[in-house]
Amino acid sequence: MKLKTIYICRSCSHENANWTGKCPQCNAWNSFEEDVINVGKANKSLSKSPRTLKTKEATTLLEAKPSNKKIGSGINEFDRVMGDGITQGSLILLSGEPGIGKSTITLQIANNIAKNNKVLIISGEESIDQIANRASRLNLKEKNLMAINEYTLENILDIIKKEKADFVIIDSIQVISSMDLPSSAGSVTQVRYCTEQIMELAKSNNITIMLIGHVTKDGTLAGPRVLEHLVDTVIHLEGDRYQDFRILRAAKNRFGPCTEVGIFEMTEKGLSEIKNPSEQFLEGRKENAIGSAITVTMEGTRPMLIEVQALVSTSPFGYPKRTANGFDLNRLQILIAVLEKYGKLNLQNQDVFINVVGGIKLIEPACDLAVLTAIASSLLKKPIHKDMVIYGEVGLSGELRKVNHNDKRIKEAQKLGFNTIINPDIYREITQVQKIFQHSQ
Ligand SMILES: [Zn+2]
Repeated sequence: MKLKTIYICRSCSHENANWTGKCPQCNAWNSFEEDVINVGKANKSLSKSPRTLKTKEATTLLEAKPSNKKIGSGINEFDRVMGDGITQGSLILLSGEPGIGKSTITLQIANNIAKNNKVLIISGEESIDQIANRASRLNLKEKNLMAINEYTLENILDIIKKEKADFVIIDSIQVISSMDLPSSAGSVTQVRYCTEQIMELAKSNNITIMLIGHVTKDGTLAGPRVLEHLVDTVIHLEGDRYQDFRILRAAKNRFGPCTEVGIFEMTEKGLSEIKNPSEQFLEGRKENAIGSAITVTMEGTRPMLIEVQALVSTSPFGYPKRTANGFDLNRLQILIAVLEKYGKLNLQNQDVFINVVGGIKLIEPACDLAVLTAIASSLLKKPIHKDMVIYGEVGLSGELRKVNHNDKRIKEAQKLGFNTIINPDIYREITQVQKIFQHSQ
């Protein structure tokens, strides 16, 4: 055994011989941790004799039959994100911030799958009592659902093999550690090594395994990004933990598209699917309110109507504040600059607050125009008409740019009774933005 000290970035797993304050690969600050690796063992596993092909071992791709058997999770929105269900024998990483509902949704899925399969939950985070409490709160009653407390990798591999489980959940990958490695649980080497070993077991025994991985803002644990290339599928559960809506997104999927998202609501009975997201997101909306704009954003291949609120008020200090909840702050600064220069509105001594209703994050440039119009509405104290849906990308020269899925957006808006569509087909320039309020009179 030959030990060597190295430094690994917790966010992207870049290796360095020395400690450095800023990661040269992903630019994260203070992300390097010291680790000890065993460099003596590496050569042992190399095979001595070169592999030779047996007769007829290589087949043409047309003859080879893909065996992607899918397991239904019992939750349609979940299966959609996974690509028509969970592929048997695959390794899945479910990531998200602590408290967002990862354990809840995995327990619901485990219970559904246990109707026809042997399901095992291995928890290094919660006691069996805590899991049992959650199961009874969610009213789950499946008999084939087993749970066990364990956090040593070698024991976990043994248990899975012995129990011959079809579907395994490991909560969480960051508390598991191998006895073969000197570093502590949650370090990059441990998390990576454990994942590799679990992957091998999943593939060689055709067992479907789902790992739970925490994303922490302070980066004290090795993040799921470190594992992305080691697993088949990465799904991310996001949302505001103080709000009810949750979005499930595939960040990587070897067995399906990465474009679909699942939308859920956190209830006492667990996460429940939302079939008509637009209706849900607009519920409780105040019609003809000042500073409120409705936009239509694409979540995967689905259009969704979302309300954007802006509050503009005279700044008591010399330096005006810009705050955004659910919208990128840099993007907001740009929109304000464009609105000042081309919309001829003075926001220099105004605080601007943006809030996207429902804890949703608007990441599409198509939402620019709605944010900008909401700001103008609040500044001018003029409401946006209640039948209006606004979308379009705002360019730096004050031009409005067309966005994709135009037909889908219009159809969704009309379905919900929004009959005035303001998009780059109507206006081409920000200079025309005040006309939106004439529509509203
Ligand atoms: Zn890095």
